[in-house]
Amino acid sequence: MKRRNILRSLGGALLAMPALHAEGYNRATKISLHTDMSSSPVKITKVKAIPTCPHNIELIVVKVETDQPGLYGVGCATFRQRAHAVVTAIDKYLDDFCRGRDARNIEDIWQTAYVSSYWRNGPVLNNALSGLDQALWDIKGKMANMPVYELLGGKCRFAVDTYTHGGGRSGEEAADSVLEKMEQGFRNVRIQLGGYGATHLSGEADFKEAGFGMPDDNVMDPQAYMKGVVEMFDVVRQRAGEDVELLHDIHERLQPLDAINLIKQLEPYRPFFIEDPFSPENMEWFRILRQQSTVPIAMGELFNNPNEWLTYMRDQLFDFIRIHISQIGGITPAMKVARLGEWFNIRTAWHGPGDVSPVGHAANSHIDLAVWNFGIQEAVSFSPLLQDIFPGAPRMENGYMIINEAPGIGVDVNEDLALKYPLPEKHNYNWTQLRKRDGTVIKP
Ligand code: MG
Repeated sequence: MKRRNILRSLGGALLAMPALHAEGYNRATKISLHTDMSSSPVKITKVKAIPTCPHNIELIVVKVETDQPGLYGVGCATFRQRAHAVVTAIDKYLDDFCRGRDARNIEDIWQTAYVSSYWRNGPVLNNALSGLDQALWDIKGKMANMPVYELLGGKCRFAVDTYTHGGGRSGEEAADSVLEKMEQGFRNVRIQLGGYGATHLSGEADFKEAGFGMPDDNVMDPQAYMKGVVEMFDVVRQRAGEDVELLHDIHERLQPLDAINLIKQLEPYRPFFIEDPFSPENMEWFRILRQQSTVPIAMGELFNNPNEWLTYMRDQLFDFIRIHISQIGGITPAMKVARLGEWFNIRTAWHGPGDVSPVGHAANSHIDLAVWNFGIQEAVSFSPLLQDIFPGAPRMENGYMIINEAPGIGVDVNEDLALKYPLPEKHNYNWTQLRKRDGTVIKP
């Protein structure tokens, strides 16, 4: 009865559209409607975490299995700093929650899983959700026999332009690395002065002498870092010229006014973007930065909660949205962020470091290919071991990231090999533990 009503109303709609009222169209519509209504669900039978740590970097992917022979999907749930917690969230909660649900209904599963914990938007649960979400897109692509980018609207560009990592402990070393990267075909290079915050330029760690903190804690001198970065940009521009785009990541390590002063000093060197000038706790400072400088700004690798970006994207307070896609719950929310950015001319620059699995990098690239307001993607080259664990991983060519054209996300996981590199029981906290000379914690 219900179906007859649908067909009747559809027929009415067709009558109102003479151009579409051909008999062939009408028949095809009825047939496809019938097929949709009679096809059986693709039931989820298991959701499981596959953790692996092949290069001392904790990676987690999720595998979603279905009741259709051979049909499964994989997605990235990598949050290396709390890997065991994500594995527990997947194996102890999402698996039970998802069994029996129809894998075709990605949006519905995302929305129901999102609220299933009642408290939400934290990094652990968002990563678990991302693994599930990306795996469902992988399944959808395999069912459609299409790469995921086709399901997202098709290509807006032939490949994904990237920036690579360069830099050195001095301006000269940084210039050497930029010239080398240009030789390799890269057109965009992020330059850092040593590690984040140029900790090699820091003076004495007085707090250690005083027995404060822990022996492995790092020390940073913000003034030495700022002075060094300006000098580095000067040397690199002189030696590498204007035919390369230069990027830099402040990594939220400065006080807000110091960051604004540094960005103003970098203006003559025309950065492509400066990343994370402020921590997410300091978002209102973007309003002041915007009044002071026209340097393009990238922000957002630490975002987890939509309220962290909604207002600031609407108010056009930065230029590149830099979200780590698994940290917000996968492709489904990332597409919404990308579309939001399109209306405000904010381009995507998804976070793409070594602690995103090859599955996650491929997921980034599918979105990069399909959205108009793509900006740039962080390049990564996978070791032979990672390519063995993740067959079909994206590859770099002439500065572009290339994904394979297999249906779905296009990356698989060799479970047996992955499990030969188990997660370490103890996490290495090294670079997140950072202090000023007197011991005050600096956000990393
Ligand atoms: Mg960053």
